[in-house]
Amino acid sequence: MDPFALIYEGFDPDQEGLREALTSTGNGYLCTRGTAEWEDADGIHYPGTYAHGIYNRETTILGGLPVLNEDLVNLPNWLVLKLRIDGEDAIRLADVELLAYRHWLDLRNATVLRELRFRDRRSRETTLHSRRFVSMVDVHHAGIEWTLTAENWSGRVEVVSAIDGRVTNAGVARYLELEGRHLDPVSPRTFGPEVIALKVQTRQSNVYISQAARSRVFNAGEPIAVERSLYQTEDYIHQLLAFDLQQGAPVRVEKIVAFFTSRDPATGDTLTKAGTSARRCPEFEEALGHHRSAWEELRQVSDVQVAGSEEVQHLLRVHTCHVLQVCSRHTADIDAGVPARGLNGEAYRGHVFWDELYVYPFINYRMPEVTRGLLMYRYRRLDEARAAAKEAGFRGAMFPWQSGGEGTEETPRVHLNPLSGRWDPDLSRNQRHVNAAIFYNFWHYFQATQDLTFLRDYAAEMMLEIARFWSSIAHFNSERGRYEIHGVMGPDEFHEKYPGTDAGGLRNNAYTNVMVAWLCELAQGVLSLLPRSRAEALRERLELRDEELHTWEDMSRRMFVPFHDGDIISQFEGYEQLEELDWDGYRAKYGNIQRLDRILRAEGDDPNRYKVAKQADTVMLFYLLSATELRRLFTRLGYEYGADTARKNIAYYDQRTSHGSTLSFVTHAGVLAPIDPESSWERFLVALKSDVEDIQGGTTQEGIHMGVMAGTLDLVQRSYMGAHVRDGVLHFDPRPPAEMESLAFSMQFRRTPIRVELGDRRLTLTANPEGVNRAIRVGFGDQVRELSAGGQITFELTPEPSGEQHVHSYEETA
Ligand code: BGC
Repeated sequence: MDPFALIYEGFDPDQEGLREALTSTGNGYLCTRGTAEWEDADGIHYPGTYAHGIYNRETTILGGLPVLNEDLVNLPNWLVLKLRIDGEDAIRLADVELLAYRHWLDLRNATVLRELRFRDRRSRETTLHSRRFVSMVDVHHAGIEWTLTAENWSGRVEVVSAIDGRVTNAGVARYLELEGRHLDPVSPRTFGPEVIALKVQTRQSNVYISQAARSRVFNAGEPIAVERSLYQTEDYIHQLLAFDLQQGAPVRVEKIVAFFTSRDPATGDTLTKAGTSARRCPEFEEALGHHRSAWEELRQVSDVQVAGSEEVQHLLRVHTCHVLQVCSRHTADIDAGVPARGLNGEAYRGHVFWDELYVYPFINYRMPEVTRGLLMYRYRRLDEARAAAKEAGFRGAMFPWQSGGEGTEETPRVHLNPLSGRWDPDLSRNQRHVNAAIFYNFWHYFQATQDLTFLRDYAAEMMLEIARFWSSIAHFNSERGRYEIHGVMGPDEFHEKYPGTDAGGLRNNAYTNVMVAWLCELAQGVLSLLPRSRAEALRERLELRDEELHTWEDMSRRMFVPFHDGDIISQFEGYEQLEELDWDGYRAKYGNIQRLDRILRAEGDDPNRYKVAKQADTVMLFYLLSATELRRLFTRLGYEYGADTARKNIAYYDQRTSHGSTLSFVTHAGVLAPIDPESSWERFLVALKSDVEDIQGGTTQEGIHMGVMAGTLDLVQRSYMGAHVRDGVLHFDPRPPAEMESLAFSMQFRRTPIRVELGDRRLTLTANPEGVNRAIRVGFGDQVRELSAGGQITFELTPEPSGEQHVHSYEETA
C-alpha cells in the first residue's frame, strides 16, 4: 500500500461515483470531483465543481405546492478535455477496450491522476496520462496535464478543450424531481489565441462566475504550433487543438484554468479577471511545483502519524487530505461555513449543519485562523438568527438547523423515503441544539487560542445572544422548581415527536438541557473576560439587564434533566414509556438496519414509538464534556453523577442505537476510549472506513462526510492522546488503543506550536524553537509544567495495577 496515495486499479462503472468524490481536488476555496476530463454527466460519471458560499435558491411545484430549495451550485465544468482521433467521435471509457487503467489521488498534495492504455475500435493503442490539481497557492488557478502517446499508430488528433456552462445540479438521484437549474448564461469570450472563457450567473442569488482556460501543446518540452478552431454558444465554449501524433512520441497538453466570482475581493468584471489571470498563470509544471510546496507546509502542521497499523495511518491521511481541501488557510478569508458533505457532491444541498462541531477541534489546534474565519460565517448571519428567533416568538439568536447562503432556515419540509417512494414530512428543523453547538465552538476556539480580540469583537455577542435565545425558549415549571425546554429535538433524528401526535418536538431533551445549563453558566461569566468599556457597551446595546444574567445563573443550576431506571438519563421526557424494538428480528429480516427510520416507515410503522436512536444523543454529553466537567455540572444542577454514570448510560444507549449517521461511530469511539478501549477501536475503524468503503451504500458518492473525516483525526488527538484544555492548561491523558504503537502530531496552543509524541510509554512535548516565544502550560496527571519555545518535557507513563495511567517522572530541557 502506498501510504500517500488512494489508488484504484481498473475501471469499475459501479464505483466511479464513489471514486470521483474521494479523488476530488480542492483548495479550501473550490473543489472539483475526480471525474475523468473526457466524460460528461451520464449516470456513471458526474463532473461537479463547487465553491464555498455559492448558493442559489429555486422553487419546484411538487404535487401542486411550491417547494423551495437552496443549493450549493454545481459550477461550469472546467475539466473538459476530449480526444478525437482522425476526426472520429471523442474517446469515452465505455467505447474502448482498456488494456491498463489506474486512477488515484496523491494524498501529499491532492493531485488526481489517471494512467490508461486503451485499444479503440480501429485497434489503435493509445496511452493517456492525466494529472490535475487545484492550486493551494493561488486559489484561482487549477491545471490539467495530459501526456498522450500513440503506441502503434501515427495520425492526426484533435483535443477539445472546453468550458461547459450547461451543467445543472443533478448529482443526487433523490433530488431529481426538484429544480436543478441554477445558472443563467452571460457570455463566452476569447483572450488571444490560447485562452477561452465563459461567464455565467446564478439565477436568483446573482453571483457571476467566470472561468478561463489556456490550452497549449508541447513536444519534448517545447510548445508546438497547433491548428486551433473555436466553437461557442452562450453557455459553452471550446477550442479544438489539432496536431499530429507520431508513434511512440509523447505529446503533452496543458489546460490551465482561472476562476473568479463576483464574491472575490479585488475583482471587478469576473470575465476579464479570469481571462487576464489565465494568460498570466505559469506553465503546468511550475504551478504544480508551487502547489506541492504549499501542501508540504500544510502537511507539516496537519499530518497525524500512528504506528501499528498501516491501514489506519493511510486512512488518517485520506481524511486529512480531504479536510484540508475543504478547510484550508484560504478558507479563512472567505465567507465560508463547513458544508456537512464537503465541496465534493450535492447531498444535503451543500448545507451547513452542526457537523462543524466535529471539524473544529482538529483545525483549532493547527490552523486556528481558519476556525476563526469559519466562525465568522455564523457571526455574519447573526441578524438572520435574531430575526428567526423573533419570528418564532423568542429572543436572542436562533440559528437554523440547515444553513446556506444567507443563514435562513433551509431544512426542507418534506423528504423522500427511497424505500417507500413517499415524500414524508421532515421535522428535523426542531434541532435547536445546533445553537448549543455554535456556542460550544466559539468557546472552544477561545480555549485553544485565547483570542481576546475575537472574543471582544464577535464571540461574546454570539454567546450572549445564544444564551438569551435559550432562556427565552425555556420556561420555569414551578411545580418541579426547574427550567424546561419543550418542542425541540435532540440529535437523534428518529425521534421527531411523541407517537400519535402531530406537533413536532419533544419535552426536555436531556442533551439539550444539559448543554444549556453548561452554556448559561459560561454566558453570564463571559462579560467579565472583556475590557470593562466593551462589556458595558455590549450590555447596553443588547439591553442585557442584571435580571437576565441572574436567570442564566439560575438556569445553570436548575435545568431539568429527566432520568429513568435509576440513573439512566432519559433521552427526553417520557422516553421510558416507549417500546423496545426487536433488534434481532429486524437485523435478521433486513441485514443493515442503520436507517431503521426508513424501514419502519416503509412498513407503515413509526420510529417515534420505539427506544431506538439514529445516533448518539444523550451520549453526546460524554463526548463533548469531560468527566470532571460533567460531574461538576450535574452536582451544580443537584443531580447525582456517580462513578458509573457514563459507563451505564453509554452502554444503555449503545444497545439502542442503529448508527444511521456515521457521526455516531466517532462519538461512540470517543466516549468508549477510557471505558472499553477495544470497542472504541472497533468504532474508530468503522468511522475511518466509512467513506472509503461507503458503508452506507451510496452516500459517499454524493459527498464526503466532513464531520466523520475530521472527527477521526480529533479522536486521535482528544481521545487517544487525551489532549484537552482545563483552566488554561493543555492537559494530556493518553489512552492509546493497544493497536497504536506510537502516535505523533503537531499542535498549536495559544500561538505556540508544539510537537506531541507518544511511544515506549513516554509522552514527549517539544515546543518549536521558532514559535512565538511565549510559555504555555501543559499538564499530565496532576502535574502542570511550563513549556517555552525550544523546550521539551517528557512524561513517563507507568501502568498502575488498575490499568490507569500515572505520571512517574518528568524531565525538562531548555
Ligand atoms: C445526521 C445529522 C447531521 C446531518 C449532516 C444527518 O444524517 O443525523 O446529525 O448533521 O446528517 O451530516
